Amino acid sequence: MSGESILEKVISTSGDEFYTPIPKGYTPGKTKFVVVTGSVISGIGKGTINSSLCKMLQDRGLEVEPIKLEAYLNVDSGTLNPFRHGEVFVLDDGTETDLDLGTYERMLDKNLGKDNFVTSGKIYQTIIENERAGKYLGRDVQFIPHVTGEIKKVLRELAVKTKADVIVIEIGGTVGDFENMFALEAIREMVYEEGGENVCVINITYVLQPKSLGEQKTKAAQLGIRKLLELGLTPNIILCRSENKLGQKAKEKISLGSNVPIERVFGVHNVANIYSLPLTLRNIGLDEAVLNELKLNKKFKTNGNKELEEWSKKTSCDSTKTVTIGIAGKYTGSSDTYISILKALEHCSFELKKCVEVKWVETTEIEKGGKVDAALKGIDGVIVPGGFGKRGVEGKIAVSKYCREKNIPYLGLCLGFQIALIDIARNVIGLKNANSTEFDPKPEDPVIDILPEQKKIEGMGGNMRLGGKNVEVKPNTNAFKILGEKKIVRRRFRHRLECNPNYIEKFEKAGVVFSGKAPNQPIMQIFELPKHKFFMASQFHPEFTSRPLAPDPMFLEFVKKSAEK
Ligand code: GLN
Repeated sequence: MSGESILEKVISTSGDEFYTPIPKGYTPGKTKFVVVTGSVISGIGKGTINSSLCKMLQDRGLEVEPIKLEAYLNVDSGTLNPFRHGEVFVLDDGTETDLDLGTYERMLDKNLGKDNFVTSGKIYQTIIENERAGKYLGRDVQFIPHVTGEIKKVLRELAVKTKADVIVIEIGGTVGDFENMFALEAIREMVYEEGGENVCVINITYVLQPKSLGEQKTKAAQLGIRKLLELGLTPNIILCRSENKLGQKAKEKISLGSNVPIERVFGVHNVANIYSLPLTLRNIGLDEAVLNELKLNKKFKTNGNKELEEWSKKTSCDSTKTVTIGIAGKYTGSSDTYISILKALEHCSFELKKCVEVKWVETTEIEKGGKVDAALKGIDGVIVPGGFGKRGVEGKIAVSKYCREKNIPYLGLCLGFQIALIDIARNVIGLKNANSTEFDPKPEDPVIDILPEQKKIEGMGGNMRLGGKNVEVKPNTNAFKILGEKKIVRRRFRHRLECNPNYIEKFEKAGVVFSGKAPNQPIMQIFELPKHKFFMASQFHPEFTSRPLAPDPMFLEFVKKSAEK
Protein backbone atom coordinates (compact mmCIF):
# COMPACT_ATOMS: atom_id res chain seq x y z
CA MET A 1 0.00 0.00 0.00
CA SER A 2 1.40 3.40 -0.89
CA GLY A 3 1.95 6.08 1.72
CA GLU A 4 -0.82 8.23 0.39
CA SER A 5 -3.44 5.60 0.75
CA ILE A 6 -2.31 4.74 4.27
CA LEU A 7 -2.71 8.37 5.25
CA GLU A 8 -6.10 8.56 3.57
CA LYS A 9 -7.18 5.50 5.46
CA VAL A 10 -5.93 7.00 8.72
CA ILE A 11 -7.85 10.20 8.03
CA SER A 12 -11.08 8.47 7.06
CA THR A 13 -11.06 6.12 10.03
CA SER A 14 -13.17 7.77 12.67
CA GLY A 15 -12.08 5.42 15.45
CA ASP A 16 -10.71 6.81 18.68
CA GLU A 17 -7.24 5.40 18.29
CA PHE A 18 -6.19 7.41 15.25
CA TYR A 19 -5.65 10.96 16.36
CA THR A 20 -4.08 12.45 13.30
CA PRO A 21 -5.40 15.97 12.85
CA ILE A 22 -4.72 16.87 9.23
CA PRO A 23 -4.68 20.59 8.49
CA LYS A 24 -6.99 21.88 5.78
CA GLY A 25 -5.38 21.91 2.37
CA TYR A 26 -2.76 19.30 3.18
CA THR A 27 -1.75 17.15 0.21
CA PRO A 28 0.29 14.08 1.13
CA GLY A 29 3.52 13.81 -0.82
CA LYS A 30 3.50 17.43 -1.98
CA THR A 31 6.00 18.43 0.67
CA LYS A 32 8.75 15.99 1.54
CA PHE A 33 10.35 15.72 4.96
CA VAL A 34 13.97 15.29 5.94
CA VAL A 35 14.45 14.39 9.59
CA VAL A 36 17.80 14.87 11.22
CA THR A 37 18.59 13.14 14.50
CA GLY A 38 21.81 12.97 16.46
CA SER A 39 23.30 10.04 18.29
CA VAL A 40 26.16 9.34 20.74
CA ILE A 41 26.83 12.90 21.87
CA SER A 42 25.47 16.39 21.44
CA GLY A 43 27.59 19.26 20.21
CA ILE A 44 28.76 17.58 17.00
CA GLY A 45 27.48 20.36 14.79
CA LYS A 46 24.01 19.02 14.02
CA GLY A 47 22.68 22.55 13.50
CA THR A 48 25.57 23.52 11.25
CA ILE A 49 25.31 20.37 9.15
CA ASN A 50 21.55 20.78 8.87
CA SER A 51 21.77 24.36 7.78
CA SER A 52 24.40 23.37 5.21
CA LEU A 53 22.09 20.67 3.94
CA CYS A 54 19.30 23.25 3.67
CA LYS A 55 21.64 25.54 1.77
CA MET A 56 22.60 22.80 -0.72
CA LEU A 57 18.97 21.96 -1.37
CA GLN A 58 18.12 25.64 -1.73
CA ASP A 59 20.97 25.91 -4.23
CA ARG A 60 19.21 23.30 -6.38
CA GLY A 61 16.13 25.44 -6.53
CA LEU A 62 14.06 23.76 -3.83
CA GLU A 63 11.95 25.76 -1.39
CA VAL A 64 13.39 24.62 1.92
CA GLU A 65 11.86 25.25 5.31
CA PRO A 66 13.72 24.26 8.47
CA ILE A 67 12.03 23.47 11.77
CA LYS A 68 13.63 22.65 15.07
CA LEU A 69 11.79 20.40 17.48
CA GLU A 70 13.44 21.37 20.74
CA ALA A 71 13.25 18.73 23.43
CA TYR A 72 13.12 20.83 26.58
CA LEU A 73 9.96 21.73 28.47
CA ASN A 74 10.38 25.50 28.34
CA VAL A 75 7.70 26.99 26.10
CA ASP A 76 10.38 29.06 24.37
CA SER A 77 14.04 29.94 24.92
CA GLY A 78 13.32 33.31 26.50
CA THR A 79 13.79 32.19 30.07
CA LEU A 80 17.00 30.27 29.41
CA ASN A 81 20.35 31.39 30.75
CA PRO A 82 22.63 32.14 27.78
CA PHE A 83 25.69 31.13 29.78
CA ARG A 84 24.29 27.65 30.10
CA HIS A 85 22.42 27.20 26.85
CA GLY A 86 23.94 29.75 24.47
CA GLU A 87 22.43 32.92 23.10
CA VAL A 88 18.69 33.52 22.98
CA PHE A 89 18.01 34.31 19.33
CA VAL A 90 15.05 36.57 18.51
CA LEU A 91 13.03 36.15 15.31
CA ASP A 92 11.27 38.98 13.53
CA ASP A 93 7.88 37.89 14.89
CA GLY A 94 9.27 38.08 18.43
CA THR A 95 9.78 34.35 19.03
CA GLU A 96 12.69 33.71 21.38
CA THR A 97 14.57 30.70 20.13
CA ASP A 98 17.63 28.58 20.39
CA LEU A 99 20.76 29.80 18.58
CA ASP A 100 20.33 27.21 15.81
CA LEU A 101 17.56 29.33 14.31
CA GLY A 102 20.17 32.06 13.88
CA THR A 103 22.37 29.61 12.01
CA TYR A 104 19.46 28.69 9.70
CA GLU A 105 18.54 32.32 9.03
CA ARG A 106 22.12 33.26 8.21
CA MET A 107 22.75 30.23 6.03
CA LEU A 108 19.47 30.45 4.11
CA ASP A 109 19.41 34.25 4.11
CA LYS A 110 15.75 34.23 5.06
CA ASN A 111 13.60 35.23 8.01
CA LEU A 112 11.98 32.46 10.00
CA GLY A 113 9.06 32.61 12.41
CA LYS A 114 7.33 30.94 15.31
CA ASP A 115 6.37 27.92 13.21
CA ASN A 116 10.03 27.08 12.65
CA PHE A 117 10.71 26.48 16.33
CA VAL A 118 8.63 24.20 18.53
CA THR A 119 9.55 23.00 22.00
CA SER A 120 8.09 20.06 23.88
CA GLY A 121 6.81 22.64 26.37
CA LYS A 122 4.83 24.35 23.62
CA ILE A 123 3.34 21.04 22.44
CA TYR A 124 2.28 20.14 25.99
CA GLN A 125 0.89 23.63 26.56
CA THR A 126 -1.34 23.26 23.49
CA ILE A 127 -2.53 19.85 24.62
CA ILE A 128 -3.35 21.02 28.13
CA GLU A 129 -5.19 24.04 26.77
CA ASN A 130 -7.15 21.79 24.38
CA GLU A 131 -8.01 19.44 27.22
CA ARG A 132 -9.26 22.28 29.41
CA ALA A 133 -11.36 23.53 26.52
CA GLY A 134 -12.96 20.09 26.22
CA LYS A 135 -11.61 19.54 22.73
CA TYR A 136 -10.86 15.84 23.26
CA LEU A 137 -14.56 15.05 23.75
CA GLY A 138 -14.27 12.89 26.81
CA ARG A 139 -11.32 10.91 25.52
CA ASP A 140 -8.39 10.25 27.90
CA VAL A 141 -5.43 12.27 26.65
CA GLN A 142 -2.35 10.17 25.92
CA PHE A 143 1.18 10.57 24.68
CA ILE A 144 0.22 8.35 21.79
CA PRO A 145 -1.84 9.44 19.88
CA HIS A 146 -2.30 12.97 21.21
CA VAL A 147 1.23 14.25 21.78
CA THR A 148 2.52 12.56 18.65
CA GLY A 149 -0.56 13.75 16.77
CA GLU A 150 0.11 17.32 17.81
CA ILE A 151 3.72 17.07 16.61
CA LYS A 152 2.65 15.68 13.23
CA LYS A 153 0.07 18.45 12.98
CA VAL A 154 2.71 21.12 13.54
CA LEU A 155 4.86 19.64 10.76
CA ARG A 156 2.00 19.36 8.29
CA GLU A 157 0.77 22.84 9.12
CA LEU A 158 4.19 24.18 8.23
CA ALA A 159 3.94 22.33 4.91
CA VAL A 160 0.55 23.86 4.13
CA LYS A 161 1.54 27.32 5.21
CA THR A 162 4.87 27.51 3.41
CA LYS A 163 4.18 25.22 0.42
CA ALA A 164 7.81 24.15 0.80
CA ASP A 165 9.26 21.40 -1.35
CA VAL A 166 11.18 20.05 1.60
CA ILE A 167 10.87 20.57 5.33
CA VAL A 168 14.08 19.81 7.19
CA ILE A 169 13.26 18.78 10.75
CA GLU A 170 15.97 18.95 13.36
CA ILE A 171 15.22 16.80 16.38
CA GLY A 172 16.85 18.50 19.36
CA GLY A 173 18.97 16.46 21.76
CA THR A 174 20.37 12.98 21.19
CA VAL A 175 18.65 9.68 20.42
CA GLY A 176 18.01 8.00 23.74
CA ASP A 177 17.13 11.20 25.60
CA PHE A 178 13.88 10.86 27.44
CA GLU A 179 12.65 14.26 26.32
CA ASN A 180 12.69 13.69 22.57
CA MET A 181 11.24 10.16 22.64
CA PHE A 182 7.80 11.40 21.57
CA ALA A 183 9.18 13.44 18.72
CA LEU A 184 10.93 10.32 17.41
CA GLU A 185 7.74 8.30 17.82
CA ALA A 186 5.88 11.01 15.88
CA ILE A 187 8.46 10.66 13.11
CA ARG A 188 8.02 6.90 13.06
CA GLU A 189 4.28 7.49 12.56
CA MET A 190 5.03 10.05 9.85
CA VAL A 191 7.15 7.52 7.93
CA TYR A 192 4.27 5.04 8.13
CA GLU A 193 1.59 7.50 7.15
CA GLU A 194 3.43 9.49 4.50
CA GLY A 195 5.31 6.58 3.00
CA GLY A 196 9.05 5.94 2.85
CA GLU A 197 9.72 8.05 -0.21
CA ASN A 198 8.30 11.13 1.42
CA VAL A 199 10.39 11.07 4.58
CA CYS A 200 14.18 10.76 4.67
CA VAL A 201 15.71 10.08 8.07
CA ILE A 202 19.31 11.08 8.64
CA ASN A 203 21.31 10.17 11.69
CA ILE A 204 24.37 12.19 12.58
CA THR A 205 26.57 10.11 14.78
CA TYR A 206 30.04 10.31 16.22
CA VAL A 207 32.93 7.93 15.67
CA LEU A 208 35.35 7.96 18.56
CA GLN A 209 39.11 7.84 18.20
CA PRO A 210 40.69 7.60 21.65
CA LYS A 211 44.24 8.93 21.69
CA SER A 212 45.52 5.88 23.52
CA LEU A 213 44.27 3.56 20.74
CA GLY A 214 44.79 5.75 17.74
CA GLU A 215 42.14 3.93 15.70
CA GLN A 216 38.51 4.76 15.03
CA LYS A 217 36.00 2.94 17.23
CA THR A 218 32.43 2.58 16.07
CA LYS A 219 30.72 0.84 18.99
CA ALA A 220 29.19 3.97 20.49
CA ALA A 221 27.91 4.99 17.05
CA GLN A 222 26.48 1.52 16.45
CA LEU A 223 24.68 1.57 19.79
CA GLY A 224 23.28 5.02 19.09
CA ILE A 225 21.95 3.88 15.71
CA ARG A 226 20.63 0.68 17.24
CA LYS A 227 18.63 2.80 19.67
CA LEU A 228 17.01 4.49 16.67
CA LEU A 229 16.23 1.07 15.14
CA GLU A 230 14.66 0.00 18.44
CA LEU A 231 12.35 2.98 18.14
CA GLY A 232 11.21 1.70 14.77
CA LEU A 233 13.19 4.18 12.72
CA THR A 234 15.64 2.97 10.11
CA PRO A 235 17.82 5.84 8.95
CA ASN A 236 18.09 6.35 5.19
CA ILE A 237 21.42 8.09 5.58
CA ILE A 238 24.12 8.08 8.23
CA LEU A 239 26.59 10.88 8.63
CA CYS A 240 29.59 10.11 10.79
CA ARG A 241 31.35 12.98 12.43
CA SER A 242 34.91 12.28 13.44
CA GLU A 243 38.12 14.02 14.30
CA ASN A 244 39.96 12.53 11.30
CA LYS A 245 38.74 11.22 7.94
CA LEU A 246 36.38 8.25 8.35
CA GLY A 247 38.13 4.99 7.52
CA GLN A 248 36.66 2.30 5.25
CA LYS A 249 36.61 -0.26 8.08
CA ALA A 250 34.59 2.04 10.31
CA LYS A 251 32.18 2.72 7.44
CA GLU A 252 31.64 -1.00 6.82
CA LYS A 253 30.96 -1.72 10.47
CA ILE A 254 28.42 1.04 10.70
CA SER A 255 26.69 -0.06 7.53
CA LEU A 256 26.49 -3.65 8.72
CA GLY A 257 25.11 -2.66 12.09
CA SER A 258 22.47 -0.29 10.79
CA ASN A 259 20.89 -1.75 7.61
CA VAL A 260 22.11 1.32 5.76
CA PRO A 261 23.96 0.57 2.49
CA ILE A 262 27.56 1.66 2.59
CA GLU A 263 27.07 4.26 -0.16
CA ARG A 264 24.74 6.08 2.17
CA VAL A 265 27.17 6.14 5.09
CA PHE A 266 29.10 9.40 4.87
CA GLY A 267 32.05 10.69 6.82
CA VAL A 268 32.43 14.35 7.74
CA HIS A 269 35.53 15.13 9.72
CA ASN A 270 36.35 18.43 11.38
CA VAL A 271 36.50 21.32 8.95
CA ALA A 272 38.14 24.64 9.69
CA ASN A 273 35.72 26.79 7.71
CA ILE A 274 32.03 26.11 8.21
CA TYR A 275 31.17 28.22 5.17
CA SER A 276 32.74 25.62 2.93
CA LEU A 277 30.65 22.88 4.51
CA PRO A 278 27.78 23.00 1.97
CA LEU A 279 30.29 22.45 -0.82
CA THR A 280 32.08 19.72 1.14
CA LEU A 281 28.80 17.91 1.76
CA ARG A 282 27.80 18.31 -1.88
CA ASN A 283 31.11 16.84 -2.98
CA ILE A 284 30.67 13.72 -0.87
CA GLY A 285 27.22 13.30 -2.39
CA LEU A 286 24.95 14.10 0.52
CA ASP A 287 22.30 16.19 -1.22
CA GLU A 288 22.23 13.77 -4.14
CA ALA A 289 21.54 10.92 -1.71
CA VAL A 290 18.79 12.86 0.08
CA LEU A 291 17.05 13.68 -3.19
CA ASN A 292 17.40 10.09 -4.39
CA GLU A 293 15.72 8.86 -1.24
CA LEU A 294 12.91 11.36 -1.72
CA LYS A 295 12.61 10.64 -5.46
CA LEU A 296 13.27 14.27 -6.23
CA ASN A 297 16.54 13.79 -8.08
CA LYS A 298 15.03 14.16 -11.56
CA LYS A 299 13.21 17.35 -10.75
CA PHE A 300 15.97 19.17 -8.91
CA LYS A 301 19.26 18.66 -10.70
CA THR A 302 22.29 20.74 -9.76
CA ASN A 303 23.37 23.61 -11.94
CA GLY A 304 26.91 22.74 -10.92
CA ASN A 305 28.72 24.05 -7.91
CA LYS A 306 29.30 27.57 -9.13
CA GLU A 307 27.09 29.33 -6.61
CA LEU A 308 28.38 27.35 -3.66
CA GLU A 309 31.97 27.86 -4.76
CA GLU A 310 31.40 31.59 -5.09
CA TRP A 311 29.76 31.67 -1.71
CA SER A 312 32.55 29.84 0.02
CA LYS A 313 35.10 32.09 -1.67
CA LYS A 314 33.30 35.25 -0.61
CA THR A 315 33.03 34.11 2.98
CA SER A 316 36.69 34.45 3.81
CA CYS A 317 39.05 37.15 5.05
CA ASP A 318 42.73 37.97 4.82
CA SER A 319 44.38 36.84 8.03
CA THR A 320 47.45 38.98 7.44
CA LYS A 321 45.35 42.08 8.04
CA THR A 322 43.52 42.04 11.33
CA VAL A 323 41.48 44.32 13.52
CA THR A 324 41.01 43.56 17.21
CA ILE A 325 37.59 44.04 18.72
CA GLY A 326 36.96 43.81 22.44
CA ILE A 327 33.65 42.46 23.71
CA ALA A 328 33.01 43.78 27.19
CA GLY A 329 30.60 41.34 28.77
CA LYS A 330 30.34 38.57 31.27
CA TYR A 331 32.29 35.97 29.37
CA THR A 332 32.27 32.51 30.88
CA GLY A 333 34.17 30.38 28.44
CA SER A 334 31.47 29.64 25.85
CA SER A 335 31.44 31.61 22.61
CA ASP A 336 27.83 30.46 22.07
CA THR A 337 26.68 33.13 24.53
CA TYR A 338 27.44 35.90 22.03
CA ILE A 339 27.34 33.86 18.82
CA SER A 340 25.36 36.33 16.67
CA ILE A 341 27.77 39.14 17.57
CA LEU A 342 30.74 36.96 16.61
CA LYS A 343 29.02 36.08 13.35
CA ALA A 344 28.16 39.73 12.60
CA LEU A 345 31.86 40.60 13.06
CA GLU A 346 32.79 37.72 10.81
CA HIS A 347 30.42 39.04 8.13
CA CYS A 348 32.23 42.40 8.30
CA SER A 349 35.54 40.62 7.91
CA PHE A 350 34.31 39.08 4.64
CA GLU A 351 33.28 42.46 3.28
CA LEU A 352 36.44 44.27 4.43
CA LYS A 353 38.70 41.29 3.63
CA LYS A 354 40.32 41.81 6.99
CA CYS A 355 40.04 39.21 9.75
CA VAL A 356 38.53 40.27 13.05
CA GLU A 357 40.17 39.06 16.21
CA VAL A 358 38.01 39.08 19.30
CA LYS A 359 39.27 39.76 22.79
CA TRP A 360 37.06 39.24 25.81
CA VAL A 361 37.03 42.09 28.30
CA GLU A 362 35.85 40.77 31.64
CA THR A 363 33.94 43.69 33.13
CA THR A 364 33.52 42.08 36.55
CA GLU A 365 37.32 42.33 36.88
CA ILE A 366 37.22 46.07 36.11
CA GLU A 367 34.45 46.45 38.65
CA LYS A 368 36.66 44.85 41.27
CA GLY A 369 39.31 47.53 40.68
CA GLY A 370 41.02 46.36 37.49
CA LYS A 371 42.37 49.14 35.26
CA VAL A 372 40.40 49.89 32.10
CA ASP A 373 43.44 50.85 30.02
CA ALA A 374 45.13 47.55 30.87
CA ALA A 375 41.94 45.63 30.04
CA LEU A 376 41.61 47.40 26.66
CA LYS A 377 45.28 47.17 25.68
CA GLY A 378 45.71 46.26 22.00
CA ILE A 379 42.02 46.64 21.30
CA ASP A 380 40.91 48.78 18.32
CA GLY A 381 37.22 49.06 19.12
CA VAL A 382 34.82 47.93 21.83
CA ILE A 383 31.38 46.35 21.81
CA VAL A 384 29.25 46.41 24.93
CA PRO A 385 26.70 43.68 24.22
CA GLY A 386 23.20 43.04 25.53
CA GLY A 387 22.72 41.69 28.98
CA PHE A 388 20.63 41.47 32.10
CA GLY A 389 21.37 41.99 35.78
CA LYS A 390 23.72 44.06 37.83
CA ARG A 391 26.92 42.03 37.76
CA GLY A 392 29.68 43.71 35.74
CA VAL A 393 27.61 46.83 35.00
CA GLU A 394 29.90 49.35 36.73
CA GLY A 395 32.82 47.87 34.78
CA LYS A 396 30.91 48.39 31.54
CA ILE A 397 30.14 52.01 32.47
CA ALA A 398 33.88 52.53 33.05
CA VAL A 399 34.60 51.03 29.61
CA SER A 400 32.11 53.40 27.97
CA LYS A 401 33.68 56.39 29.71
CA TYR A 402 37.16 55.33 28.63
CA CYS A 403 36.18 54.82 24.97
CA ARG A 404 34.26 58.08 24.90
CA GLU A 405 37.13 60.09 26.37
CA LYS A 406 39.93 58.39 24.42
CA ASN A 407 38.14 58.44 21.05
CA ILE A 408 38.08 54.63 20.81
CA PRO A 409 35.25 53.25 18.61
CA TYR A 410 32.32 52.09 20.72
CA LEU A 411 29.33 50.06 19.64
CA GLY A 412 26.61 49.60 22.25
CA LEU A 413 24.01 46.92 21.75
CA CYS A 414 20.81 47.08 23.80
CA LEU A 415 22.28 47.06 27.32
CA GLY A 416 25.36 48.69 25.78
CA PHE A 417 23.06 51.57 24.68
CA GLN A 418 21.75 52.00 28.21
CA ILE A 419 25.23 51.71 29.74
CA ALA A 420 26.63 54.52 27.58
CA LEU A 421 23.71 56.78 28.49
CA ILE A 422 24.33 56.16 32.20
CA ASP A 423 28.00 57.04 31.64
CA ILE A 424 27.08 60.28 29.85
CA ALA A 425 24.49 61.20 32.49
CA ARG A 426 27.00 60.74 35.27
CA ASN A 427 30.18 62.04 33.69
CA VAL A 428 29.03 64.66 31.16
CA ILE A 429 25.73 65.98 32.51
CA GLY A 430 26.92 65.63 36.10
CA LEU A 431 24.07 63.52 37.46
CA LYS A 432 26.41 61.63 39.77
CA ASN A 433 23.83 59.12 40.93
CA ALA A 434 22.20 58.39 37.59
CA ASN A 435 21.37 54.76 37.05
CA SER A 436 18.98 52.27 35.46
CA THR A 437 16.07 51.07 37.58
CA GLU A 438 17.19 47.57 36.60
CA PHE A 439 20.23 47.96 38.85
CA ASP A 440 18.90 50.37 41.49
CA PRO A 441 15.14 50.44 42.09
CA LYS A 442 15.07 54.09 43.21
CA PRO A 443 18.06 56.03 41.89
CA GLU A 444 18.20 59.80 42.22
CA ASP A 445 18.16 60.04 38.43
CA PRO A 446 16.51 57.06 36.73
CA VAL A 447 17.88 57.83 33.25
CA ILE A 448 17.04 54.30 32.15
CA ASP A 449 13.63 53.15 33.24
CA ILE A 450 11.19 50.37 32.59
CA LEU A 451 8.97 50.92 29.51
CA PRO A 452 5.45 51.97 30.55
CA GLU A 453 3.94 49.12 28.49
CA GLN A 454 6.14 46.64 30.38
CA LYS A 455 5.04 47.80 33.83
CA LYS A 456 1.68 46.12 33.37
CA ILE A 457 3.13 42.73 32.42
CA GLU A 458 3.96 40.21 35.09
CA GLY A 459 5.78 36.90 35.05
CA MET A 460 9.11 35.97 33.49
CA GLY A 461 8.21 34.44 30.11
CA GLY A 462 7.72 36.43 26.90
CA ASN A 463 7.24 39.72 28.73
CA MET A 464 9.67 41.96 26.92
CA ARG A 465 9.36 44.33 23.99
CA LEU A 466 10.26 41.70 21.45
CA GLY A 467 10.90 41.18 17.77
CA GLY A 468 11.22 43.25 14.62
CA LYS A 469 10.07 46.87 14.83
CA ASN A 470 10.49 49.95 12.72
CA VAL A 471 13.13 52.50 13.55
CA GLU A 472 12.63 56.04 12.30
CA VAL A 473 16.04 57.38 11.34
CA LYS A 474 16.77 61.10 11.65
CA PRO A 475 18.06 62.67 8.41
CA ASN A 476 21.51 64.31 8.40
CA THR A 477 22.92 62.05 11.12
CA ASN A 478 25.71 59.51 10.92
CA ALA A 479 23.20 56.73 11.43
CA PHE A 480 21.17 58.01 8.47
CA LYS A 481 24.24 57.90 6.27
CA ILE A 482 25.34 54.49 7.52
CA LEU A 483 21.88 52.97 7.14
CA GLY A 484 21.71 53.94 3.48
CA GLU A 485 19.72 57.17 3.91
CA LYS A 486 16.57 55.24 4.64
CA LYS A 487 13.98 56.97 6.79
CA ILE A 488 12.72 53.67 8.21
CA VAL A 489 14.70 50.53 8.93
CA ARG A 490 13.52 47.40 10.68
CA ARG A 491 15.51 45.81 13.48
CA ARG A 492 14.95 43.27 16.25
CA PHE A 493 14.44 44.13 19.91
CA ARG A 494 14.48 42.33 23.24
CA HIS A 495 14.27 44.72 26.15
CA ARG A 496 12.24 45.84 29.11
CA LEU A 497 13.81 49.23 29.78
CA GLU A 498 14.44 52.36 27.73
CA CYS A 499 15.98 55.82 27.88
CA ASN A 500 13.68 57.69 30.27
CA PRO A 501 11.86 60.28 28.06
CA ASN A 502 12.15 62.88 30.86
CA TYR A 503 15.92 63.02 30.29
CA ILE A 504 15.99 63.24 26.48
CA GLU A 505 16.43 67.01 26.47
CA LYS A 506 19.26 66.91 29.01
CA PHE A 507 21.07 64.30 26.92
CA GLU A 508 20.64 66.34 23.76
CA LYS A 509 22.05 69.43 25.46
CA ALA A 510 25.09 67.35 26.41
CA GLY A 511 25.78 66.52 22.75
CA VAL A 512 23.92 63.24 22.37
CA VAL A 513 22.12 62.91 19.04
CA PHE A 514 19.20 60.50 19.10
CA SER A 515 19.34 59.43 15.50
CA GLY A 516 16.74 56.67 15.66
CA LYS A 517 13.45 56.37 17.50
CA ALA A 518 10.22 54.40 17.46
CA PRO A 519 7.87 55.96 14.87
CA ASN A 520 4.96 56.86 17.16
CA GLN A 521 6.45 56.67 20.64
CA PRO A 522 9.21 58.51 22.48
CA ILE A 523 11.31 55.33 22.63
CA MET A 524 14.90 56.20 21.67
CA GLN A 525 16.44 53.48 19.52
CA ILE A 526 19.79 54.79 18.23
CA PHE A 527 22.09 57.46 19.57
CA GLU A 528 25.46 58.79 18.46
CA LEU A 529 28.15 61.24 19.51
CA PRO A 530 28.85 63.04 16.21
CA LYS A 531 32.28 64.39 17.19
CA HIS A 532 33.64 61.01 18.19
CA LYS A 533 35.54 58.70 15.79
CA PHE A 534 32.68 56.23 16.17
CA PHE A 535 30.38 56.19 19.16
CA MET A 536 27.01 54.69 18.38
CA ALA A 537 24.58 52.54 20.24
CA SER A 538 21.24 50.95 19.52
CA GLN A 539 18.43 49.73 21.71
CA PHE A 540 17.94 46.96 19.14
CA HIS A 541 20.18 44.03 18.27
CA PRO A 542 21.64 44.58 14.79
CA GLU A 543 23.56 41.31 15.14
CA PHE A 544 20.35 39.29 14.66
CA THR A 545 19.82 40.51 11.11
CA SER A 546 23.41 40.49 9.86
CA ARG A 547 23.97 37.96 7.06
CA PRO A 548 27.19 36.48 5.64
CA LEU A 549 27.08 38.48 2.43
CA ALA A 550 25.07 41.39 3.83
CA PRO A 551 26.79 42.53 7.02
CA ASP A 552 24.86 44.87 9.28
CA PRO A 553 25.85 48.43 8.24
CA MET A 554 26.33 49.67 11.81
CA PHE A 555 28.67 46.81 12.60
CA LEU A 556 30.47 47.37 9.31
CA GLU A 557 31.09 51.06 9.93
CA PHE A 558 32.21 50.28 13.48
CA VAL A 559 34.76 47.69 12.31
CA LYS A 560 35.91 49.98 9.49
CA LYS A 561 36.51 52.84 11.90
CA SER A 562 38.22 50.51 14.37
CA ALA A 563 40.60 49.39 11.65
CA GLU A 564 41.63 53.01 10.87
CA LYS A 565 44.80 53.61 12.79
N1 GLN B 1 18.39 44.55 30.56
C1 GLN B 1 18.08 45.52 29.58
C2 GLN B 1 16.59 45.62 29.32
O1 GLN B 1 15.86 44.73 29.66
C3 GLN B 1 18.82 45.25 28.29
C4 GLN B 1 18.32 44.02 27.60
C5 GLN B 1 19.25 43.50 26.54
O2 GLN B 1 20.41 43.88 26.48
N2 GLN B 1 18.79 42.57 25.74
O3 GLN B 1 16.13 46.58 28.77
